[in-house]
Amino acid sequence: MEATVNVPELYGSLVFNDKVMKQRLPKDIYQAVKKTSTQGTHLELDVANCVASAMKEWAIEHGATHFTHWFQPMTGLTAEKHDSFISPDGMGGVIMEFSGKELVKGEPDASSFPSGGLRATFEARGYTAWDPSSPAFIKDGTLYIPTAFVSYSGEALDKKTPLLRSMEALSDEAVKVLHLLGLKNVTHVNTTVGSEQEYFLIDKEMYMKRKDLVMCGRTLIGAPAPKGQEMEDHYFGVLKPKVSAYMHDLDQELWKLGVPAKTKHNEVAPSQHELAPIYENVNVATDHNQLTMEMMKKVADKHGMACLLHEKPFEGVNGSGKHNNWSISTDTGINLLDPGKDPFENLPFLVTLVSVIAAVDEYQDLMRVSVATAGNDHRLGANEAPPAIISIFVGDDLAALLKAVDDGTAFKSKGKTQMSMGAQVLPHIKKDTTDRNRTSPFAFTGNKFEFRMPGSSLSVADPNIVLNTAVAEKFSDVYDELKDVPAEELEGKVRELVKKMLDEHKRILFNGNGYTDEWVEEAAKRGLDNLKSLPEAMPRLIADKSVELFTKHKVFTQTELDSRYEIFLENYSKTIHIESLTMQDMVRKDFTAGLVSYEKDLTEAAAAKKSVLPSAGCKYETGILEKLDTLESSIDEALAKLDADTKVAEGKSDVLESAEYYQATILSDMDSLRAGVDAAEALIPNEYLSYPTYEEMLFSTR
Ligand code: ADP
Ligand code: MG
Repeated sequence: MEATVNVPELYGSLVFNDKVMKQRLPKDIYQAVKKTSTQGTHLELDVANCVASAMKEWAIEHGATHFTHWFQPMTGLTAEKHDSFISPDGMGGVIMEFSGKELVKGEPDASSFPSGGLRATFEARGYTAWDPSSPAFIKDGTLYIPTAFVSYSGEALDKKTPLLRSMEALSDEAVKVLHLLGLKNVTHVNTTVGSEQEYFLIDKEMYMKRKDLVMCGRTLIGAPAPKGQEMEDHYFGVLKPKVSAYMHDLDQELWKLGVPAKTKHNEVAPSQHELAPIYENVNVATDHNQLTMEMMKKVADKHGMACLLHEKPFEGVNGSGKHNNWSISTDTGINLLDPGKDPFENLPFLVTLVSVIAAVDEYQDLMRVSVATAGNDHRLGANEAPPAIISIFVGDDLAALLKAVDDGTAFKSKGKTQMSMGAQVLPHIKKDTTDRNRTSPFAFTGNKFEFRMPGSSLSVADPNIVLNTAVAEKFSDVYDELKDVPAEELEGKVRELVKKMLDEHKRILFNGNGYTDEWVEEAAKRGLDNLKSLPEAMPRLIADKSVELFTKHKVFTQTELDSRYEIFLENYSKTIHIESLTMQDMVRKDFTAGLVSYEKDLTEAAAAKKSVLPSAGCKYETGILEKLDTLESSIDEALAKLDADTKVAEGKSDVLESAEYYQATILSDMDSLRAGVDAAEALIPNEYLSYPTYEEMLFSTR
């Protein structure tokens, strides 16, 4: 029997959280930090000094010897540089030191991080600045301090800085509107996010034998296994012992770090799983999702497995996403997307709901841009993930509400109804007012919206920056319309405005099946964007409308947008370039070695058979040899074309043109090559191949 775990004691035990601060900081200092972290006020250096000293004492007691500023550069990963606490004592020994200055500011060299155009124009120097709104924690003997990362001239080089700016923009605009609507004691609103994380687990030794997985995170070749996900027997299936032990360990590691891991289950594809946390403020949720991805990999390694976070590790079975559950709450505890008992009378809810609908419609292209990566392009638009077209599902009840708003008629919610299951022994359960819709990219789910397009490896900062800013813009419109309306006319004007906004934006509402061709046609008629690939979507980021939105709300400067545009496109091209080289290498060496050795054995076996049995036709052996030979010609041709086209791609200097070429030419070359290789691989026995097949990998966890 395993020892029982005291979860409340374990939870957050490695976090410098509110409880620790309350215990260890003088009252006035604690209050100053608390105000900064909840309301975003500025923090003075004397406060920082005091916090640094308490942090150091606490960290050393918990075994830490080092500290690091922890930040999220444009690679989408996290970065860290560890410094020890030691400082010479002048007598040949050391003392452990950590100052307020070291806590608030770091100076990593910015020149080796992606910076787009910024690198040419600005100095290499970069700064990291402490983010007191996300708690510090200890990992592997180091104190981790969440920070924002900016260039010498203050341009954001990371994902956290614009996220924090977007949270402030949304809060400022929302508070103005809420004051007009009578919620006068609200001083701040928070966006809340719970990000459900999908992942695959496969045997580690198998993983190590596949260059494509090691280099690219996804398989580039591989014949399908005889069994995929068609039996629908994996989703919510019984956890295998090894996977269960992994999840158990992962939960505990996350809990220690204060990450509120809540739900775990098997997903649709074989070897695919999901973890969902309890929602938090979006900034903390983003940091925690980064930690979750890191711990998923680390813990898998300890358990002899590899965790794959790529959006599409295997052809033919589902890829992995990251559902971004999003809502807005006031500092007085109201969830603005909670319809409550009487949504028709709930003006803050109606205004928020319609503002979100308007924001998602008007900036649908930016929503698409925010989830565009080379990996996620393989997922969006396939029949497993939301299409590349953005639409909103509101469900029957809200649809009826919105119709009533539109028609100017009264509305009463059906409320939850009792449901009987036909057997007396079973309890009567309450039925939700709407069913779920799995195919919608942006679905209302009771008291929040769930954005389902983000890919599994994406930082959730990206989509939330767009969502927060777009909704801030709509709140700002609402405020402008209502600010001069006399109190007695306000309700009427609010209803008029809600109706007008709904009329303007209702084309984005779609409650049907998003996977069908009819929807693609219908969406085109409605004028909705269908931006299928990253190169097609990315120019929208620097279009006038985007620049206006982001500069107005001070989330991005024009320069920051230009640099991001360049980084995203470059990253896309580089990703596919690495995939092309890896694929060529794997086909030429690993696959060809297996192919040739099997052909040799077949040839020798047929010849040997004939020498014993001169009448033998060897039709079976020669049949396979003939098929392989035919496939070889097509493989040879496809390989030569991929090689030549990749060299052409390498010569392109314009970032957009290059990305377009990788999308249109290199990806399709890779598809042609893969078709031949997969057909041949299906004929070759596993033991001839130096790498594991789909069949072996997808059913490798026990
Ligand atoms: P479902 O299973 O229907 O998707 P859950 O209630 O299990 O819904 O929630 C899924 C995710 O949504 C969880 O991570 C949860 O914490 C998160 N969530 C719930 N309420 C909110 C909210 N108000 N804001 C943001 N995320 C939320
Ligand atoms: Mg969900």
